[in-house]
Amino acid sequence: KVPRLFTAGIASFYEGYYANKGINIVKGTVASGFSTNSNGEVTEVKLKDGRTLEADIVIVGVGGRPIISLFKGQVEEEKGGLKTDAFFKTSVPDVYAIGDVATFPMKLYNDMRRVEHVDHARKSAEQAVKAIKAAEEGNSIPEYDYLPYFYSRAFDLSWQFYGDNVGETVMFGDNDPKSPKPKFGSYWIKEGKVVGAFVEGGTPEENQAIAKVARAQPSVESLDVLAKEGLSFATKI
Ligand SMILES: Cc1cc2nc3c(=O)[nH]c(=O)nc-3n(C[C@H](O)[C@H](O)[C@H](O)COP(=O)(O)OP(=O)(O)OC[C@H]3O[C@@H](n4cnc5c(N)ncnc54)[C@H](O)[C@@H]3O)c2cc1C
Repeated sequence: KVPRLFTAGIASFYEGYYANKGINIVKGTVASGFSTNSNGEVTEVKLKDGRTLEADIVIVGVGGRPIISLFKGQVEEEKGGLKTDAFFKTSVPDVYAIGDVATFPMKLYNDMRRVEHVDHARKSAEQAVKAIKAAEEGNSIPEYDYLPYFYSRAFDLSWQFYGDNVGETVMFGDNDPKSPKPKFGSYWIKEGKVVGAFVEGGTPEENQAIAKVARAQPSVESLDVLAKEGLSFATKI
């Protein structure tokens, strides 16, 4: 998720920040295996480029892919997930798909999407249950209208992203990894409109403001002005 979301400018901040703390980020290769001692404890990580790294502990965070093979040929699929409507109903009556596995209509972008994030996993479950309950009572509920939202917290860092990471990007703020209190971000601009926003170190109000921008998709005259205004562009929307 993160490499697809982070621009080079955003990535260089985190790389610099961690490098300053003595962390070595190995790039341009992948892990290809492990070596163990006679007790079966890990001693080394083998890299694809032939190098090895000594290790006492190995933590693997490599993501995953939704398991849809279980339903092969039984439920309609789209974009690597189970296709649903705006109420998470699949092509089979009374079968619902929620969370990572669901490819659903994202109203905001008029597109079928899958979202791998706990926020959507919870909200899609809520939507499906509400739709089922409403149908039982002969009522209906509004279509799912999700604004993509990702966040991460690590040590004293904390970022949030809302919207779509497509189009051109501009950076704003103080992204010097040596700053005592770095606060910076990025906007994504497509067809003259701000469609996505990222902020590191934002206050709750600033995080709210970038969510509002991503939902409202305001037009921008110039990328330079946007870069200069930074967060104040969002807080005045
Ligand atoms: C490394 C990693 C880091 C992540 N970090 C974050 C983060 O920081 N913040 C965030 O919001 N999201 C994060 N995510 C995404 C988040 O974990 C998922 O979006 C969320 O767990 C999806 O929930 P879910 O209920 O759809 O699926 P899951 O949580 O994957 O639940 C599906 C369950 O179904 C079970 N299952 C599969 N097949 C069968 C079967 N045949 N029979 C019975 N059970 C079965 C699985 O074992 C699993 O328990 C991360 C994901 C990964 C992989």
